[in-house]
Amino acid sequence: MSAPERVDVAVIGGGILGLACGYELARGGAEVVVFERRALASGTTGGSAGVVCLHDLGELYAVLSLVGHDRIRTLEREHGFPFHRYGSLSYWRSGRSEPGPSAYETAYGTGPESIYHRVRLTGTELRSRFGWLPDDVAGGDFFPNQGFINPYQLVQLYADEGARTGRLTVLPGTPVLAMDREGPRITRLITRRGPVEVGTVINAGGPWGGKIGRLGGLDLDLIPQRIQVAVATGFEDGASRVPLLGWPGEVDGQGGWCRGEEGDLLLFGQHRHTPEPEFTVDPDHCDLNNDAGFPERVGAMIKSGWRLPRSRFLPGWNCVYGMTPDGYPMVGSSGALGNLIHVLGCNGHGITLHAGLAKAVAARVLHGTTTIDLTGVPGAPAELETSWLSPDRFAAGRALRLDPTHPTPAADLVATP
Ligand SMILES: Cc1cc2nc3c(=O)[nH]c(=O)nc-3n(C[C@H](O)[C@H](O)[C@H](O)COP(=O)(O)OP(=O)(O)OC[C@H]3O[C@@H](n4cnc5c(N)ncnc54)[C@H](O)[C@@H]3O)c2cc1C
Repeated sequence: MSAPERVDVAVIGGGILGLACGYELARGGAEVVVFERRALASGTTGGSAGVVCLHDLGELYAVLSLVGHDRIRTLEREHGFPFHRYGSLSYWRSGRSEPGPSAYETAYGTGPESIYHRVRLTGTELRSRFGWLPDDVAGGDFFPNQGFINPYQLVQLYADEGARTGRLTVLPGTPVLAMDREGPRITRLITRRGPVEVGTVINAGGPWGGKIGRLGGLDLDLIPQRIQVAVATGFEDGASRVPLLGWPGEVDGQGGWCRGEEGDLLLFGQHRHTPEPEFTVDPDHCDLNNDAGFPERVGAMIKSGWRLPRSRFLPGWNCVYGMTPDGYPMVGSSGALGNLIHVLGCNGHGITLHAGLAKAVAARVLHGTTTIDLTGVPGAPAELETSWLSPDRFAAGRALRLDPTHPTPAADLVATP
């Protein structure tokens, strides 16, 4: 299919952010084309663990997570979209004190349907349910309303639902190669399938977002980070429906996450909230294999903490995710280039955060506002001010701060920074 001559909104990137923005904008009345250089979800999205869970790293994170959880529950209800509620778990061993509710749970929890809903389990209950836990597990909090989705399915659902509006076109195999600029506007994209005049352009290029920004002459604060995943054959130890939980130790000086996969496999991944220079890579020149011995080192660490004697640890994959210096996403335009809107830097949280960020993009494009309406999202304030996430906050000295312990009052979120 050749590219149209003109489009209201051109979205660059066919990952979760690009498709969620396409869906949101098409539902809001815009004619949208998503340009994806390869296949849908072929970037970070396809390699993601797809977990929808708490990200209590700051108030913006917490509220955007409520929005993401609400969206997945809505898609589950209205479209039968599979949300695998394996839950998430934090456990403690004998001698450790039991944690109380977090400040975030107190602020945003809304009862049994909430993402914060937790069930306290004794050591005996945990061992009978998750036989691979260590013998001295003394108790834990299980969060049954958290889980994971298949990111390929989610991207396809947005593509299909967007197409049903008659206003969303998705063009895989169509890289955007250049942008023509006149003063403060991008006027035209040059794509593999021809030139396209544009009203607005959305940069949803994931870790390639910096390169896309440079097509418009911008230098964005986006730092691509390499992340490794290993896989284990948990079915050989009867490890079924394993919830999301942290590693019991470190590999190469780093902690990480584990979650059960369909088919009773186990995924083990690295994670970091803010960029570290030794993991900064060019996403186009990055080894997608694990480092030599990585799966074996993960296996040795896990087997010393959990009872998985028969599971084999297999090579997984490497992914690159985009990060900002403060670990928060960026949404909005940069400098004078007002019709190029970036939605980037979701690091390890883009599946949970996508719905709120796509709303923030749509609010800017369709209504010229940075405030999003969260009416009906359980536990969330009625509105969220998203200009905190401006791509230019670093140059302006307004970097945000990750704050896992003390949320500020929700009222602050409706104020402009
Ligand atoms: C190992 C791992 C585990 C993760 N687990 C979770 C999780 O459990 N929960 C969670 O919430 N988040 C998770 N994440 C994070 C989440 O996957 C990302 O934040 C999210 O997928 C980013 O989506 P995106 O659409 O911004 O980027 P991408 O999926 O990378 O999409 C960008 C797209 O842009 C395309 N593109 C680039 N340049 C061009 C061009 N010039 N023209 C056209 N197209 C172009 C690329 O091909 C790509 O498909 C995880 C990430 C990793 C790496």
